[in-house]
Order: sequence, then C-alpha cells, then structure tokens
Amino acid sequence: MIIEPRTRGFICLTAHPTGCDENVKKQIEYVTSKGAIKGAKKVLVIGSSTGFGLASRISSAFGSDAATIGVYFDKPSAPGKTGSAGYYNTAAFEKHAHKAGLYAKSINGDAFSNEIKRKTLDLIKEDLGQIDLVIYSLASPVRTHPDTGVRYKSVLKPIGGVFSNKTVDFHTGNVSEISINPAEGEDIANTVAVMGGEDWKMWMDALKSENLLSENATTVAYSYIGPSLTEAVYRKGTIGAAKDHLEATAFTITDDLKSIGGKAYVSVNKALVTQASSAIPVIPLYISLLYKIMKAKGIHEGCIEQIQRLYSERLFGGDLALDEKGRIRIDDWEMREDVQAEVAELWKTASSENLSEIGDLEGYSKDFFNLFGFKVDGINYDADVNEMVAIPSEK
Ligand code: NAD
Repeated sequence: MIIEPRTRGFICLTAHPTGCDENVKKQIEYVTSKGAIKGAKKVLVIGSSTGFGLASRISSAFGSDAATIGVYFDKPSAPGKTGSAGYYNTAAFEKHAHKAGLYAKSINGDAFSNEIKRKTLDLIKEDLGQIDLVIYSLASPVRTHPDTGVRYKSVLKPIGGVFSNKTVDFHTGNVSEISINPAEGEDIANTVAVMGGEDWKMWMDALKSENLLSENATTVAYSYIGPSLTEAVYRKGTIGAAKDHLEATAFTITDDLKSIGGKAYVSVNKALVTQASSAIPVIPLYISLLYKIMKAKGIHEGCIEQIQRLYSERLFGGDLALDEKGRIRIDDWEMREDVQAEVAELWKTASSENLSEIGDLEGYSKDFFNLFGFKVDGINYDADVNEMVAIPSEK
C-alpha cells in the first residue's frame, strides 16, 4: 500500500516501515562511525522502540557488540493497517542486529505489568544468564499498578498556580497564548505513580532477587530539567515531581544493589522531538528556538548523538562528571549560558509571523514526521510498500 502520514495534533496515526528502517540504519551508521565503546555486553532496555531507548539499544549493540533484550509497547502491523513507528523500528533494529551477528530479542507488552516482567526475566535466564546494564527509558501517559490494578493517569500541569505562556502549533506555526490550570486532587500523586521511580525499582528488585544482575551491574534512567522558561509546566510541575521521585529512586536502587557493587544513575538528557515531548505544551516552541541556536553553533544533537556521547564519554568513558545532585548531565550543551541567553531573547519576540525565521520550525516538523518514518531523505514515498512486517525474534 501507499502509506501517508495521518496526523491528529501531536500524534501520527500511521507509520512508514521503509522510513523507520532507514532511520534505524542511519543511527546504526552514526554509532559505527564513532568507533567501538568499551561498554556493557548484555543489555536490557525498557522502552526500547523509539527516542532515547532505541538510541540506547543501538549504541549498546553497534557500539559495544552487546546482546540486547528490548521491552516496548507498540501496535503491530495488520492487513491494511500500519504498525506504530516503534514496532517498525524494532523490526528494523533486530534485522540489522541479526545481520551483524548480534543477539537481539524483543518483548512487546506493558512493562509495568507483572506478566511482562516475568516474561523478560525468563528470557534473560534462558538466553543471557545475567544483565550488565539496564536502561530504563519509559515514557507513558498511564500506568496500571501491577499489585492493586489501579490505573493512574499522568497530567502535565503546573503546581500552585495557573501557568500562562506562549506555545506553538508546530504543524501551522501558529504561536498563541495558553493557560494551564494547576494540579488538583490526586494529579501530582498520579503523575508520580506513572513517571516516577516505583516501576524502575520494581524491575531492579525483580532482576536482583532472581540473580539476573552481574557483579557491578549498572542501571540508568532518563530525566529532564530544562530552562526557567518551561520550569512552571515541566520541572516544577507535575512531571517534574515525577522526575524528582525518579532521581531519588536512583539512590535507593544503588543501596539495594550494594551487595553486588551495582549502581543506579539518572542521566539528564537534552530536549528533543520525540513522541513524548511533542505532547508537552510550550516545549515545542522552546525546542524550535533551541534547535535554531544549537544548529548555528554546531552543537545540535539528536537522540543517537546524545546517547553515543553519554556512553562513550560518561558512562563508559571514565568520567561520569556528576552534578551536585549525583546526576549525569548530557544536557550540558543545551544548558550552556550562551545558548540559554539567546533562547530567552528570542522567546520574547517569537510570534506566528517571525517563528519560521527566528526558530527552526522546519527542523521541528521534519523531526516530528521522521519519528514515524515520513519525510526521511532517500525514501520514495510513492512506492508501494508492504505494511505487514514481522519482528524476527517473535516468529
Ligand atoms: P518515547 O516516547 O520516544 O519512548 C518511549 C518508549 O517507552 C517507547 O519505546 C515505548 O514503546 C515505551 N513504552 C511506553 N509505555 C510502555 C509500557 N507500558 N510498556 C512498555 N514500553 C512502553 O520517549 P522519549 O522521549 O525517548 O523518553 C524516554 C525517557 O527520556 C523519558 O523518561 C523522558 O522523560 C526522558 N527524556 C526525554 C526528553 C525529550 O526531550 N524527549 C529529554 C530528556 C529526558
């Protein structure tokens, strides 16, 4: 079939298998071009199909020749209906990994559930024995608690007062004012239940209790801080409360792993266009200004450049360069004073009229469509493509 993008706001309902394959291939080529990383050899990535998790899986496999197990939650293809991008990415990743002689298996299902944890532990036992590195890269709006069955929904709201600022519809370039009402009732607790550290700890407890972590095993989860411009809705909002919880959980997990010399870290990553970040008000406008400035300075990075640098320079590079709160900072270039000062200056004047000039709206939009395999350079979108793609390890 001929597959075209069908967008609804910040989501795209279709995905292109050949475009997704090309995206994965480009990321593999980037990692390979940067040379070998002396990293972990047996890696579990939770949230492995898109964004930072996919980049982590690719960096481990193609940077360190690692065997990888990926856990993800995506819609498979069906006759006449495309799978989701993460599904096609996973199929492409496995195909390329197997071609390179690397072990790669994937589990599609709800990582928050006991069932998927059980399935993953059994696969590790059967195939790999123990894991050296666990990457925790879930981004989800909901979580059903595995013990109580309660379904929590996260919200993106400020805490304590109404937040008003500019935002952009990145499809049209229309800049408008939005006001977001503050969190109420259980909003904060619910968001912490979804995006905080409880599930990360559950994974690590389960792995450790069944002796599936090697000596000195490491685990890393991803966080975000960002500038004062987005602070009220991000870092000091409900999602920020969840990130505070996630960051605090790193210390609890490190304590739990003491007997095997294991360590848990949080890496604070750069703001990037992913399915998760497109959903957050104000962030797309910030990103389009940030991209413009970072590209002009020659310091722009995507997910793969971020994770390749995280691995090669920090995690396995001998210098974690932790901040005062014990976090790895791979958002260092985003947070540079000169970069932030220029974004703040542009923010003041940003409008529908000038955004395509002062911001990188085109780059934002291209990155957004790229997430779903569209507008990828070198792909002929008029060609007939088979929407039915199998995940090799699930055959
Ligand atoms: P993403 O939406 O691209 O990826 C999320 C992944 O989680 C996908 O593989 C998806 O399949 C998986 N997933 C979601 N729900 C799941 C479930 N119930 N069970 C199994 N898998 C599930 O998101 P991302 O932007 O790469 O975010 C990953 C992490 O990085 C998040 O913690 C996010 O806060 C953090 N982060 C993102 C940014 C950014 O700008 N995008 C910046 C810094 C940190």
